[in-house]
Amino acid sequence: MNYNVDEKGYYGEFGGAYIPEMLYPNVEELRQQYLQITAEESFQKEFRQLLKDYVGRPTPLYFAKRLSEKYNTKIYLKREDLCHTGAHKVNNTIGQILLAKRLGKTRIIAETGAGQHGVATATVCALMGLECIVYMGEIDIQRQSPNVARMKMLGAKVIPATSGSKTLKDATNEAIRDWINNLIDTYYIIGSVVGPHPYPDMVARFQSVISEEVKKQLLEKEKRENPDYVVACVGGGSNAAGIYYHYLNNPKVGIIAVEAAGKGIDSGESAATSVLGKMGIIHGSKTLLMQTPDGQITEPYSISAGLDYPGVGPMHAHLYTSGRGKFISITDDDAMKAGMELSQLEGIIPAIESSHALAIFEELKFKKDDIIVLNLSGRGDKDLNTYINYFKL
Ligand SMILES: *Cc1c(COP(=O)(O)O)cnc(C)c1O
Repeated sequence: MNYNVDEKGYYGEFGGAYIPEMLYPNVEELRQQYLQITAEESFQKEFRQLLKDYVGRPTPLYFAKRLSEKYNTKIYLKREDLCHTGAHKVNNTIGQILLAKRLGKTRIIAETGAGQHGVATATVCALMGLECIVYMGEIDIQRQSPNVARMKMLGAKVIPATSGSKTLKDATNEAIRDWINNLIDTYYIIGSVVGPHPYPDMVARFQSVISEEVKKQLLEKEKRENPDYVVACVGGGSNAAGIYYHYLNNPKVGIIAVEAAGKGIDSGESAATSVLGKMGIIHGSKTLLMQTPDGQITEPYSISAGLDYPGVGPMHAHLYTSGRGKFISITDDDAMKAGMELSQLEGIIPAIESSHALAIFEELKFKKDDIIVLNLSGRGDKDLNTYINYFKL
């Protein structure tokens, strides 16, 4: 079995490029050029240099001793929380903005839900001196005001999406509309392993630096490149794709994907896309998504803003249906508990997204000498208010 994308842009039956005809030339240009451009020596040099000096890579692979003792197994944390801007998302936006420059684009658009991808995009636009327009649902703008302020401070223009539910999917529609109207000079930076081919593969490749580093670091620490399990939370799936990437086709490495169950799988307030989703098309890609019986996309819910995406990337849809990945859903309450536990056992306050991944240790039993590498996708500063309200701190 091959769990990477095939030459037609599919992961099993998922993926492809279901886009308005007007966008075809741009997506096709990207498809024809992304592998070639990103393989060029000058691209790799600039990308690697920025990852090192600007993002702060390699991020540490940290053996969590007290957490490991508590669960009687060996837990390593891949510290993406230590990346510049506080999460893994910047690995991808740096890669895409370098690509956009080489394609001769001068105007960058993006959509954002919680605002994290908007901030990562605005950051690299400031770095490169490119115009930046971020579409964001009107409701999300109200809910995520610190991130809106960050984007503005970084020089981006934040445009509210006022149609529909005024959240992420509406912002996505606005971004696509903008792209159709500005095909020549505009590049669309997508923030996860979603969207039409080649975006999922391209984003996975940019994030694959995570597992590339894990292999070297684990070899140093444990004299083996391969852990027994890699674990990550899944919203769209980009941090997960990054830590799975170099292990996808090695069946000896177990893949664990953690989705947000919200208030519970059957509560109607959830974002457990793989379990609850059905095949459909979202954001230009055929994948699993949460929808009503007549195919309307349902609004997802999670206490963690970064996980409440109604779909999941096509790579993950395939990992789920093929059985290659073990998918677990974690409720708000269990995630919050795990976030508090990591803070007090290791002195690391995680993003609530990452707390979902951490909660698996209460759900799954591992062997004493199992080596588990968990991707700590982000730091908890942005979530402090949610922690404060939840724990009445
Ligand atoms: C955005 C975000 C996620 C979810 O996105 P993926 O594409 O699934 O990785 C997870 N963790 C953090 C900290 C995020 O900011």
